[in-house]
Amino acid sequence: MKKDIATLSRTLDIIKKYNFYFKKHLGQNFLVDTNILQKMVKSADIKNNINVIEIGPGIGSLTEQLAKNANKVVAYEIDKTLITILANTLKNYQNIKIYHEDILKANLNEMIKKEFPNNNEIVLVANLPYYITTPIIIKLLEQHLPINRYCIMMQKEVAERLCGGPNTKAYNALTITIQYYAIPQIIMNVPKTVFIPQPNVDSSVLQLKIRNRPKVCVKDEAFFFRVVKGSFIQRRKTLLNNLKQSLAEFDVNVILTALTKVNIKPTIRGEALTIEDYALLSDTLLELNYRENPN
Ligand code: SAM
Repeated sequence: MKKDIATLSRTLDIIKKYNFYFKKHLGQNFLVDTNILQKMVKSADIKNNINVIEIGPGIGSLTEQLAKNANKVVAYEIDKTLITILANTLKNYQNIKIYHEDILKANLNEMIKKEFPNNNEIVLVANLPYYITTPIIIKLLEQHLPINRYCIMMQKEVAERLCGGPNTKAYNALTITIQYYAIPQIIMNVPKTVFIPQPNVDSSVLQLKIRNRPKVCVKDEAFFFRVVKGSFIQRRKTLLNNLKQSLAEFDVNVILTALTKVNIKPTIRGEALTIEDYALLSDTLLELNYRENPN
C-alpha cells in the first residue's frame, strides 16, 4: 500500500514524477506531516455524514485525510498543473470532486445545491494560500453560505489578529468583521518546518464557528462596516478625527452628538471600542444624520 501523500517521501516522489515546480505567487507550501493534518480533521469534527469544501488541495495531502473521514469533499484548485496530478494521486477515493477554479470567482451556492443535496452539515477546511487568506475568508462570510464551521491553516499572526479583543495590538477592523459573523478560536500552532518549501512565517489552525445570526443587530450592515473601517484608517489618530475623515458627508456636530449620546469619548482610539459599541454608534449616527437630512 502507498504511503499517505502528506509524508515527505511520497510528496517528493510526486513532485519528481510530474516535474512540478512550486509557484510562489499562488502560495504553494505543501504540508508534509500526516499527524498535523489528522489533528486538523479531528478538530473540525469531520465524520462520515459531513460534507467538506476544501480550498487549494495542492497535490492532495489534506484532501486525502478529509476523504478518509467525510461523506464527500469538493476541492477548488486554481493551478491547472495540479489538476492532472490530483486526478492521479486521489484516484482511489470515490468521494472527492475537484473544481479547477479560482475560489474568489466560484459560485459556491450553486455548487452546494448540486454537490451536497443531502443538506448535511458543511465544513470548510483549508491550508490557505497566505497571499489571499483574508480576502477569501471575508468573501465567504459575506455571502452567508450554509457552512457551519471553518477550520483553516493560516499565518499565525493573522490567526491571532482574528482572535484579538479591544485594546490589544492585534485588534482592528478585520477582527471586528470576523467576530461579527463567527466565533474564532486557535486550535494549534504549526511550525514552518512541516511545509515544503518552508514559508517565512509560522502558522496556526483557526476554527471559525459561524454564528446563527451576527453578534450584533444593526440597522444597516454596510454602514456599520463603514464606521468600523473608518475608525481604524489611521490607528494613532483619535476616533473623532478618523470619523471626520471617513464620514466626510457628516456634519462634525452630528458625529460629536452621536458620540456623546452613546457615551464614547471623542478622544479615544478606535481600538478601545467593542463590537457592541460600534453597533450602537453606527445606528445612532444614522438616526441623527437622518433627522438632520431627512431627504
Ligand atoms: N492543501 C495543500 C497542503 O495542505 O499541502 C496545499 C496548500 S497550499 C498552502 C495552497 C494551495 O492553494 C495551492 O495548491 C495553490 O495552488 C492553491 N490556490 C492558490 N490560490 C487559489 C485560489 N484563488 N483558488 C483556489 N486555489 C488556490
